[in-house]
Amino acid sequence: MRCTFVRLAGCPLECSYCDTPQAIPFDSGDVMSIDAVVEHVRKLGNPLVLVTGGEPLAQRACMPLLESLCRLDGIVQLETSGALPIEAVPADVRRIVDIKTPDSGECGSNRLSNLANLRSGDELKFVLCGRADYEWSRDFIRRHRLTDRNIPLLFSAAWQRLSLRDLSVWIIEDRLPVRMQVQLHKIIWGAEATGV
Ligand code: SF4
Repeated sequence: MRCTFVRLAGCPLECSYCDTPQAIPFDSGDVMSIDAVVEHVRKLGNPLVLVTGGEPLAQRACMPLLESLCRLDGIVQLETSGALPIEAVPADVRRIVDIKTPDSGECGSNRLSNLANLRSGDELKFVLCGRADYEWSRDFIRRHRLTDRNIPLLFSAAWQRLSLRDLSVWIIEDRLPVRMQVQLHKIIWGAEATGV
């Protein structure tokens, strides 16, 4: 689906696999008003808009931005690190919440109270760096009974750290009810391309 990315600057985390380090400083990017962002998104006319970062919830204006985007036609998604509270996100926004794995280096940042706030339309995402992360994530899913929640569980291989083939085999062997995700933009446009 054609998608407009709105990337908000600033992130308090430092994941080992971060592929957008340019968005981590809070003074990166351009200062724009909410109205200007929404107008830009409206003109692009894509059916899906994804607000991401950095960590978008680290900016106070993220909530009014999301509310304004929800007044446009189309689906609004928010991708968040899972380190900040998600309960105030407007009801019409579909949230993709990361669960940080041990090899991310940010496992201690997981805000587990967010699990109780998940709702229909949300997704949980695990980025995996290797077998140890896979087993940790599989056990996390079982321990928190996440398959009972009717929330899609996404397993994504960290770029050039875990092969898609290995991850596929492990998921099949364990008959794990997760969805494997590939970074389609990197496959199509190359790992270094930005703004695509
Ligand atoms: S939460 Fe996202 S933006 Fe922040 S360091 Fe981790 S991968 Fe990068």
